[in-house]
Amino acid sequence: MNYYNDKTIVYLNGEFVKANEAKMDLYSQSLHYGYSVFEGIRSYKTTQGATKIFKAKEHYDRLEQSALAVNMPYHWTTAQLIEATYETLKRNDLQNAYIRPVVFAPANMSFVKNNESFIVIEVWEMQPFLGEKLLRIMTSSFERPNPKAFKIHAKATGHYVNSLMASHEAKARGFDEALLLDMNGYVAEGPGANVFYEKEGKLFTPSPGNILPGITRSTVLEICEELNIPVEVKLFTVDELKTADAVFYCGTAAEVIGWESLDDTIFPKPWKETVSRTIQEAYKNKVVEKQFKSTLEIA
Ligand code: PMP
Repeated sequence: MNYYNDKTIVYLNGEFVKANEAKMDLYSQSLHYGYSVFEGIRSYKTTQGATKIFKAKEHYDRLEQSALAVNMPYHWTTAQLIEATYETLKRNDLQNAYIRPVVFAPANMSFVKNNESFIVIEVWEMQPFLGEKLLRIMTSSFERPNPKAFKIHAKATGHYVNSLMASHEAKARGFDEALLLDMNGYVAEGPGANVFYEKEGKLFTPSPGNILPGITRSTVLEICEELNIPVEVKLFTVDELKTADAVFYCGTAAEVIGWESLDDTIFPKPWKETVSRTIQEAYKNKVVEKQFKSTLEIA
């Protein structure tokens, strides 16, 4: 995938510079210890034609919370970074884009806290992260990190080695993606997405604590409220998940994407007939600010 070319502009520490001329320090603590925090955001061309960053404030607020959670100095405001992001999109002539801000550390091989941090905002065009076909998922042999060993709610880069390992394992075995459990054996989340399951018209999603509580997950909960779809937030096991009518992953990059199967279990309800599909449609409409009229009949 081409993330940038000769013309691509990034926002780097207050300036707009060419991606292929931008530099970072190879002695950065971020490179050596996986010590940085980041966001994954999307912008969309709305039905009115404008460029709109979806849930921009929520994402940049989370970036700040992630930085503070892992003791990184953070000296930007959400408003300032949202403005810089719109400008970066404009300079790259992009409306439908994936936006990746990263806050990173200076050169430092010690374990002493830093006095400064740096920021880059990169933008590129990206299709749905997990594709658009129903997914074949494998229960991973990797667990999500123990929240007592890590600030699990922080979107910190080092953390993603766990996601990569789980995803590599699933793909090596011929699956599309992994599902990770928490340290107590409950269903947690995907390597880069939250999970919901549907049973008899009701949705279920894991409680926070051992997951990254995603912004898309909150949006799905909002949609459920708007459409009067019953939803319950609770811990559940893989065995329970395998009794679902339908399951989906959701995340900024993945959007809302259904599952075909988990390990050997195929989910029985045709995707077209699921409430989950209605959520997928509602989400697609919401991000482009299009009115959504549900045809769903709630029992
Ligand atoms: N869980 C993990 C581990 C993730 O990396 C992501 C993607 N940020 C999500 C869940 C979904 O979060 P969001 O909806 O905020 O993108």
